[in-house]
Amino acid sequence: MAPVEPPVASSAEGLPQPEDHAGPDVRRGQMDASRPDRRPFRVQVAALRKQNGTTRDEHRSGPIADLGAVSVTVPAAEDVTCDLTLTSFPGGITVTGQVRAPWVGECRRCGGSVEGTAMAEVREHYAPKEGKVGDEEAYPLVGDEIDLEPLARDAVLLGLPLAPLCDADCQGLCPTCGANRNTDTCACEAPLDPRWAALDTLRDEGPPT
Ligand SMILES: [Zn+2]
Ligand SMILES: [Zn+2]
Repeated sequence: MAPVEPPVASSAEGLPQPEDHAGPDVRRGQMDASRPDRRPFRVQVAALRKQNGTTRDEHRSGPIADLGAVSVTVPAAEDVTCDLTLTSFPGGITVTGQVRAPWVGECRRCGGSVEGTAMAEVREHYAPKEGKVGDEEAYPLVGDEIDLEPLARDAVLLGLPLAPLCDADCQGLCPTCGANRNTDTCACEAPLDPRWAALDTLRDEGPPT
């Protein structure tokens, strides 16, 4: 006796799939020769750490796999972009700035496709994990390298909408027949509220005016 759901939004089938031709730059692998490991979010911070208080801007972007929430996804072919400022302090590196990424998803009312850009302001620390007094809140500083990817991933997840709408005025779907009320009308749209039906009856039976 399970209620039958209207045929919408209950599976990932409706999600737009990236086209094969998307993201040629990602696949061609033409990365800067100085970063042969092709990990765009790894940053060398040895020079920064030589003098506390040194600041450097870092603009990094690249794809991050499997980035999404319940009803929204950052497409695999799209880049996550970081505009960050790194500052050294005696315990490590402070990272501030903005992380953003495009997302696609399904409208929570009508199941239609929705897209947008997640943006998050960050202010985080990177610190060495060795030693007794490790900074529990910090991302790891390993050797003289930090990896901005986990920071960017966390920031984007915070910036993604939990339940996106295609439009603030989205009319959703008819709960009876599943018609999309933004584009279609259906026979069940006439209100069959029993209270109105009772009023109609009273009116019919009342004296003519
Ligand atoms: Zn909608
Ligand atoms: Zn209907």
